[in-house]
Amino acid sequence: MYKYFQVIIVSLILFSCKSTEEFTGFSYDPPDVTNTTDKIIQKQARRTIGVDSPKVWISNEFEGARVNDVYAYDDSTYEVFIAPENSPINNSPWYAFKIWSDTVRMAKIRLNYPDATHRYVPKLQSWVQTDSTWKEQMELPVRYDTATGAATFDILLAPDPIIISGQPLHTSSDLISRLTHRGVLGNSFAEIKKAGESKLGRPVWEMEITEVKPDQKAPVLAIVSRQHPPEVTGYLASLIFLEELTAENDLARKFRETFVVKVFPMLNPDGVDMGHWRHNAGGVDLNRDWENFNQPETRVVKEALEPLKDSELRQMFYAIDFHSTNENIFYPINEEVKTNPDNITQQWVEHVLAENEEVEFSIEPFDTSSPIAKNWFYHTFGIDALTYEVDDRISEKELEQVSRSAAKSLMKVLLENWDKTSVEN
Ligand SMILES: [Zn+2]
Repeated sequence: MYKYFQVIIVSLILFSCKSTEEFTGFSYDPPDVTNTTDKIIQKQARRTIGVDSPKVWISNEFEGARVNDVYAYDDSTYEVFIAPENSPINNSPWYAFKIWSDTVRMAKIRLNYPDATHRYVPKLQSWVQTDSTWKEQMELPVRYDTATGAATFDILLAPDPIIISGQPLHTSSDLISRLTHRGVLGNSFAEIKKAGESKLGRPVWEMEITEVKPDQKAPVLAIVSRQHPPEVTGYLASLIFLEELTAENDLARKFRETFVVKVFPMLNPDGVDMGHWRHNAGGVDLNRDWENFNQPETRVVKEALEPLKDSELRQMFYAIDFHSTNENIFYPINEEVKTNPDNITQQWVEHVLAENEEVEFSIEPFDTSSPIAKNWFYHTFGIDALTYEVDDRISEKELEQVSRSAAKSLMKVLLENWDKTSVEN
């Protein structure tokens, strides 16, 4: 009888460990996702392929491109094969390619993904002579094939190349110019520096935004973005946040005079530039590497921020990690988990919902067992933190409205909470 009880107790302990501590992956993760040591990736051959006669040309010879093969199915249908950097991998099939034809003609393009299903609405981008950039022109409606997961769209081809991509193209080399264009950089209170290097030697940038005096005790807001290359809407939301944090108004100024903001605006530059579906150049999901830190990109953040634990003048206060998925969803830390300050996300979300009544949001709290960025901030600093997910298909107007109002209410909530802390101190 005694033995029997022992067995029950042991299995209860094992069971409870498994359910609350031993994280092996979310429902949508492939197996072994938490093993973040280097995996082999299939390098995409950079080339320009000509098919059919007269010729249709497809090229992946540019930053952010992904297309692996193409062939002419018939005299107006071209099948484009898009493969991930390695597999198994989550279903986020990114693609971007240049396409043109020797003659003007209508064509059907079929996007074919091995072991994945279509996710991103194709965006047409054309070359703008006046400012020498690729500009998004329109979204292209697709016919979705439920049996194969492929998607087909019609397009007018001409000798001038266009780019078709899964989301607007935002690569690592245009980060600085976009931050400058948005008025984030170019202020005395915003600095950017290379905090480290990615696996392939691209800069991992760190920004600091603050008007706090050097000897003034100040709380720190940390922002991480673009761990996952195709998650462009979350990245754009983070850039709009930065615009609001650097704006010339009383709220933003007060915030900068009180807080220090540390930003890692593009944590996976290799993945972004190589057109990866999700991983870095080590073939690893960076947002599962915040316990073992096997990858250089996550280590850059750890090494930059961990020293703040011992700082007398700086106190880590709140952190946001920006992503995208098929809905607007916030993943806060469970309310029951005690953080310091406590339940910032819950206070903030009330404002976000009230100020954006016509926008749909989901909120799904989680425990802190998974090796993701948000939980590293909690385990390292005891603070509250949020995974902020933006809908893949959010309109530009809604993205602007939600991001601006959310950035403003965040500043208010953080200032109120810091005031409370200061009074208690
Ligand atoms: Zn993500």
